[in-house]
Amino acid sequence: MSVLQSSVGEKGKNLKSDVETVQSLLKSKGFDPKGVDGVCGKDTIAAIRKFQATFLSNPDGLIEPGRKTWLKLAGTGGAARPDLSQWSGDSARWPQEKKLRSMHPDLRRKVEAVLQALKGRGFQPTVFYGWRSVAVQMQLYFKGNSKVKFSFHNAQHPDGTPNAHAADVVDSRFGWAPEAEQTGFWKALGEEAKKQGLVWGGDWVTFRDWAHVQLVPNGELARVKRESGL
Ligand SMILES: [Zn+2]
Repeated sequence: MSVLQSSVGEKGKNLKSDVETVQSLLKSKGFDPKGVDGVCGKDTIAAIRKFQATFLSNPDGLIEPGRKTWLKLAGTGGAARPDLSQWSGDSARWPQEKKLRSMHPDLRRKVEAVLQALKGRGFQPTVFYGWRSVAVQMQLYFKGNSKVKFSFHNAQHPDGTPNAHAADVVDSRFGWAPEAEQTGFWKALGEEAKKQGLVWGGDWVTFRDWAHVQLVPNGELARVKRESGL
């Protein structure tokens, strides 16, 4: 559960960590503060007011620990907490539909378009990984199967539900076997991914991650991690 140390918003104390917490939560609820930077400017206050307007007749733009707006925002005001148990276990074994649901909506839409296009080109594309937990990421890291402890696959909402910013797509007949290259599957994946504006791991010179596509460039990893509440 998120913690608020002091007030945030209009005439609030606005400690950087508190402001970041509030911005992340507002964003996760669809009230975009135009960035999670720890600075309480007019966009953040506007987002607080819009959020308050959904349950207060006189929004004041201020959030205080223990008060109504904070309890609503932090999800302790009676709102059900998400059931995270459905997202546990080995996400590589989930059905395709669940893997797609574990993705950021923009990524999901684009990956669906890529799958469709690849099918049209005679391939049998399948999502191997959409989201995976940080715990699974650490296992892959220590096994040497991943070079990072946090990846775009691990992105989540601050409440812990999946919000993957990356997906691994393979042809179900080949996986990572040489046929994937010989049949032109990797090349086709790269082409279709880029048509959708996705970043393709096959373009990375130091480590070609053929199956991997992601929503935003690597330089945005720190932001995505922060917005995940991690
Ligand atoms: Zn990947």
